[in-house]
Amino acid sequence: MNKHRMLVDGAWVDAAAGEWLESINPFTANAWALIPRGRKADVDRAVDAAKKAFYGKDWRGLTASARGALLRRLAELLATEADRLAEIESTDNGKLISEMRSQLHYVPKWFHYFAGLSDKIEGRVLPSDKPGFFNFTREEPLGVVAAITPWNSPLLLAAWKLAPALAAGNTVVLKPSEHSSVSALAFGELFEKAGFPPGAVNIVTGLGNEAGEPLITHPGVAKIAFTGGDRTGQAVYEQAARGIKRVTLELGGKSANIVFDDADLDQAVNGVVAGIFAATGQTCIAGSRALIHRPIYDAFVERLITLAKTARMGNPLDLSTQVGPITTRPQYEKVLEYMQVAKGEGAVCLLGGGPAQRPECGTGWFVEPTIFAGVRPEMRIANEEVFGPLLSLIPFDDEEEAIRVANSTIYGLAAGVWTSSIRRALAMSERLEAGTVWVNCYRVTSYMTPFGGFKRSGFGREGGMEAIREYLQTKSVWIDMEGKTANPFGLR
Ligand code: NDP
Repeated sequence: MNKHRMLVDGAWVDAAAGEWLESINPFTANAWALIPRGRKADVDRAVDAAKKAFYGKDWRGLTASARGALLRRLAELLATEADRLAEIESTDNGKLISEMRSQLHYVPKWFHYFAGLSDKIEGRVLPSDKPGFFNFTREEPLGVVAAITPWNSPLLLAAWKLAPALAAGNTVVLKPSEHSSVSALAFGELFEKAGFPPGAVNIVTGLGNEAGEPLITHPGVAKIAFTGGDRTGQAVYEQAARGIKRVTLELGGKSANIVFDDADLDQAVNGVVAGIFAATGQTCIAGSRALIHRPIYDAFVERLITLAKTARMGNPLDLSTQVGPITTRPQYEKVLEYMQVAKGEGAVCLLGGGPAQRPECGTGWFVEPTIFAGVRPEMRIANEEVFGPLLSLIPFDDEEEAIRVANSTIYGLAAGVWTSSIRRALAMSERLEAGTVWVNCYRVTSYMTPFGGFKRSGFGREGGMEAIREYLQTKSVWIDMEGKTANPFGLR
């Protein structure tokens, strides 16, 4: 079993306490790697290193274009390593190799895009109502950024944070999920190769409460960029408030995929299945509620079940597998528990509804792709994030009802609308309370496009021009151009 080390101040180190955590392959349910069990002492060293790098001339002294060039070099190295990193992630979190490969080949584009923005960060010269004064703004980095990422898309979500943070001139301490840290550590090797100075990027592995909490509470951290569950997100936000730190939070959802009777139903059925069963439902944007127009309800549900039944489960490293295991044992138990909750609430299980006992699933943590009908908007299963392959079907009569039900949860991350009417598409996209609305498509994201939540799905945006602003602060500079004697006791 490979024993990994953490990246602190440009060096590969063990945890100060010399302890390790097992990383489990969810397909076999066996440990396959050891990662250092970092704690406060390790976090302190990493934040100190990031702080030193932030103020050091090797980072701070770089021109914006030189910083962009470093990010481009990193992107190129990452592209050459994409297949290897994909295999690591697939082994570590059980997501399909086909998905992880396409994800990892896409990740370099995030670094290219933000590399391009690094030398386009501009201040403004402002008009002044005070004669004789010159007034301008500078956009400056914040300092040390703590990036905390979950297990479902480890490097993609790290890139969403690191690329804009570094492009803006910050330094970073990354704390990946304890369940999927290995790819982040492999990624860490590329920073030195790309020519980043020691301490610009540090990676501390460990448990959320032992390594994550000391990181977010560290006084040397200026900003926290977090993706994860909303309860942890709330705790992060509370801690950040104590330290008056900036935060971006991306906290999951209960997204509605809304199918109207005028939709292309072949497309819609594919979109609804992909929305919930891709990534085994372990994605913040999972379309976990299908709202179906009543005139097509029966026919659509039949097609949905026919398609979902064809899902090939098995080894995520096999290119033909379509649904892989659940990443962690607690998550596996949580998904199974929600199946019982749904049944207890009176929902009718049309497909699946329990653990997958297929021979191709081996000893892994698999659950059957599951569809519940008879779900009412007030049920827990229609409101709480399951983070697994569990779809709730809810019929609706008209646009008003679709909007009311879609917007009725505490979340607001994403929504899908399937219709051939442009009027309906525009009306729905305006009224849906979600950070992303997809029309006749689902799960499309890009480095050029802002991504983030409404309501309890969080705030702040990752991707696009909006993302780099999350890592900058504005300074106003006043210069007295006339040098008149200042009034010693008053403002000018
Ligand atoms: P968490 O929100 O607990 O984990 C996200 C990250 O935060 C991990 O790196 C975790 O570390 C870290 N963390 C945990 N506790 C703290 C803390 N007190 N201070 C700082 N960092 C902390 O997600 P879980 O893995 O527990 O999943 C729980 C639920 O969250 C899921 O069932 C799902 O509903 C949702 N989720 C949403 C995601 C999204 O994309 N929005 C992604 C993942 C989960 P560690 O893993 O090492 O404990």
